[in-house]
Amino acid sequence: SNIFFRPIEKINSVIESYPKGIAGFKRYVEVLDTEPDIADAKDAKSVESLRGDIRFEQVTFGYEADRNILSDIDLTIRPGETIAFVGPSGAGKTTICSLLPRFYDVTGGRITVDGMDIRSLTLQSLRKNIGIVQQDVFLFSGTIRENIAYGDLKATEEQIWEAARRASLEEMIRQLPQGMDTVIGERGVKLSGGQKQRMAIARMFLKNPPILILDEATSALDTATEQAIQKSLSELSVGRTTLVIAHRLATIKNADRIVVVDESGIAEQGRHQELIASGGIYSRLHEAQYQHA
Ligand code: ATP
Repeated sequence: SNIFFRPIEKINSVIESYPKGIAGFKRYVEVLDTEPDIADAKDAKSVESLRGDIRFEQVTFGYEADRNILSDIDLTIRPGETIAFVGPSGAGKTTICSLLPRFYDVTGGRITVDGMDIRSLTLQSLRKNIGIVQQDVFLFSGTIRENIAYGDLKATEEQIWEAARRASLEEMIRQLPQGMDTVIGERGVKLSGGQKQRMAIARMFLKNPPILILDEATSALDTATEQAIQKSLSELSVGRTTLVIAHRLATIKNADRIVVVDESGIAEQGRHQELIASGGIYSRLHEAQYQHA
């Protein structure tokens, strides 16, 4: 599910306002040159804060013209709801989520947010409303402060610390001799996988989007780190419409709704107990994949 590892698309909502001179800026500009062909409609509208009412209506999509990955998908996600997508590898969970920020455009049907076709909105304002947290965090060679503040370039020092605290990063930062001024990346301190994920979470607390896409890590973290991250993520998802590409049983069990995706599309949806009781695909997946979790 690495199609979210496309820095350009994730960052171009903030790039315009990125102050010159901050470490890493040049690198972004270089990445920007790979702008995809997804673009604003001529009369695209800029929206402020969305509520996060999401509808997939008869959505069809394929990466290649002759092979649809999704066909006639219908899905309604209410504002504030947490949906966990589960299903076999390659079924299309990541693809469904990547259509929402318009990394790709549907080839049939439409996706609406708050009743508006997402293609009628400016990419900038749509993506400003969507936060993505994923395994491959895009960190640049700069200080911890700059990397967190990337979530909101107008953030105050106090807000940056608050975001670090909510992402369980505060203690780690305080223990570094240079604190927030510590340079990370190639020329500086290397962060662990868990710390990188917390940096992404801290950014999201600052960005404060009404819609969140969480691409859960498949790689194992130690139990304590895992729990700290889960706690931060569940705090982050409160009051936001959250789509999780889920691999963790705890996330799946706590979701408002589980959407099971397989080759045929959306096979089942419901809560954990309902799906277990109905004895369908989910109950079998659960038995096979999660019995030892
Ligand atoms: P996983 O759990 O392994 O992440 P997934 O359910 O998220 O799987 P997707 O990543 O959405 O599945 O992939 C759905 C299908 O689309 C797969 O057959 C995959 O090979 C294909 N696919 C994904 N990304 C691309 C791409 N950029 N170009 C072409 N095909 C792609």
